Amino acid sequence: MTATSSLVTKAIVTGHTRGLGAALVDALLAQGIAVLGLARSSRAPLSGGSRAPGAFAEVELDLADSHRLAQWLAGDTLAAFLRGADRALLINNAGMVGPIGPCSMQAVGDVGRAVALNVAAPLMLSSAFAAATGETPDRRIAHVSSGAARNAYAGWNVYCATKAALDHHARAAALDAERGLRVASVAPGVVDTDMQGEIRGTDDARFPLRGRFEEMKRSGQLSSPEHAASKFVGYLLSDAFGETPIADIRAL
Ligand code: NAP
Repeated sequence: MTATSSLVTKAIVTGHTRGLGAALVDALLAQGIAVLGLARSSRAPLSGGSRAPGAFAEVELDLADSHRLAQWLAGDTLAAFLRGADRALLINNAGMVGPIGPCSMQAVGDVGRAVALNVAAPLMLSSAFAAATGETPDRRIAHVSSGAARNAYAGWNVYCATKAALDHHARAAALDAERGLRVASVAPGVVDTDMQGEIRGTDDARFPLRGRFEEMKRSGQLSSPEHAASKFVGYLLSDAFGETPIADIRAL
């Protein structure tokens, strides 16, 4: 079943039900990699025909609820899934772009949820993953970052700040040089998902760059989730992964 090698590889993917995350799951399964998905809902029936029994499992969890996530991580599900892996992967993909707008237009609860989902959850999962894989020879953490981590955009101050936090977490965690652990924060490009629909649906008062994203959609400049996921997984599995803590798949 394993296309790449006889290594047993297992991957945890957050936000696996739609968009980039769903395509990441398909790309991983196609390589014979077992996947545990974490999101608030269940994944629709998997595409791609028959899969090996036990290759895919999922847990319904609101990752913006840090208390609930801490409770779940105190259990054994994550460690039990990863047991026996020669290579373990964590893709921190789940994220939200909202609240969109200047500070005064944001609901404070939405700010808290965005920081919890985009920052607290990836960092908590990274910690639990690293602790659970101490005996795994090859373990890799990939944060799904964004160009917004590296450039500031009006209307996206929360999104920019949270994605920049992931970049800096990767930079600092890489300096710890834990045995066998590679960490990188990887921007996937502009991908045609529900999130892009939400961006185009925001009014100009909140997001002055809306027209630019409409034009990108109109002129076919968005990449498909499948294309972005294929490049992302190719990079994640490559020897180059983790050589630098910051990457952009458009530059690969
Ligand atoms: P999306 O279409 O909005 O999908 C988001 C995924 O995250 C869904 O599977 C959703 O599942 C899950 N999710 C959302 N809130 C959650 C929560 N509270 N708890 C658990 N899971 C949650 O987004 P996408 O465009 O695929 O984006 C994926 C990642 O890529 C994000 O980190 C995003 O910031 C990043 N990114 C996207 C683009 C782009 O152009 N699309 C560009 C740069 C970076 P449920 O609803 O089932 O929970």
